[in-house]
Amino acid sequence: MELTHIEHIGIAVESIEESIPYYENILGLKCYAIEEVKDQKVKTAFFKIGQTKIELLESTDPEGPIGKFIEKKGQGVHHIAFAANGIENALAEAESKGIRLIDKAPRKGAEGLDIAFLHPKSTGGVLTELCEDKNK
Ligand code: ZN
Repeated sequence: MELTHIEHIGIAVESIEESIPYYENILGLKCYAIEEVKDQKVKTAFFKIGQTKIELLESTDPEGPIGKFIEKKGQGVHHIAFAANGIENALAEAESKGIRLIDKAPRKGAEGLDIAFLHPKSTGGVLTELCEDKNK
């Protein structure tokens, strides 16, 4: 597959509001967007560093994926997202090589990106997201 860079790192937090000051005041990054992704039951906050983003994820529902993650593991790194050229091909290739897919086809994520997740059981424990910005 053709991956170009780390698009973002997803970090599960209990509260975006309480987490932003660390990223802004200590790391000196600027939160440039806050967006709710309803079907993922999360609120997201974005920071940019180079061409990579930090995506803070706050659960809006204890039964959602981030709510369950925090209950099990606490706050911390949740996933790594790679920018792919040709996300459909990348998914097909991963599946053909025996990787378990969470999303068989891309869906819409935050910022209008096409996204799909690979299962951490197939990736050495790292929840891995592929994404592609088709609006570019
Ligand atoms: Zn993500």
